[in-house]
Amino acid sequence: MTDRTLVLVKPDGVARGLVGEVVSRLEAKGLRLVAAELRTLTREVAEEHYGEHREKPFFGSLVEFITGGPLLALVVEGPRAVEAFRALAGATDPVKAAPGTIRGDFGLEVQNNIVHGSDSAESAAREIGLFFPSL
Ligand code: GDP
Ligand code: MG
Repeated sequence: MTDRTLVLVKPDGVARGLVGEVVSRLEAKGLRLVAAELRTLTREVAEEHYGEHREKPFFGSLVEFITGGPLLALVVEGPRAVEAFRALAGATDPVKAAPGTIRGDFGLEVQNNIVHGSDSAESAAREIGLFFPSL
């Protein structure tokens, strides 16, 4: 089966009108949309999604941010989809992310960094199951 990954256009990206830009970039790259839904996360889903960061000092702030407005959840597929989307997204800190990447072109703040992409095949399977249990 083709590789799949979970992509989020985070609430800052939706509020700034960057949904089209993100979808356009990943489609241009050759990744294919499998599922898409605009939704506002509950605290429970947000805490589950970011469970690996539960002990970090920014966890509370991150959960507030990610539940603070609608986000676009996407499942995309293609060869090495996880790695391919992480490359399009750029480094976590948008100031350090290379120009030409989504974060590098549109962000300035480490928390409000526009997009999420799963970091491994295992994370992708877990996150797709959390957001789109019917897939
Ligand atoms: P990612 O896999 O590149 O998204 O980065 P991480 O898994 O390390 O962090 C998850 C998310 O937490 C990031 O995308 C940011 O939204 C946020 N984040 C990461 N580091 C920090 C930080 O130092 N401070 C704050 N406020 N948020 C952070
Ligand atoms: Mg991560």
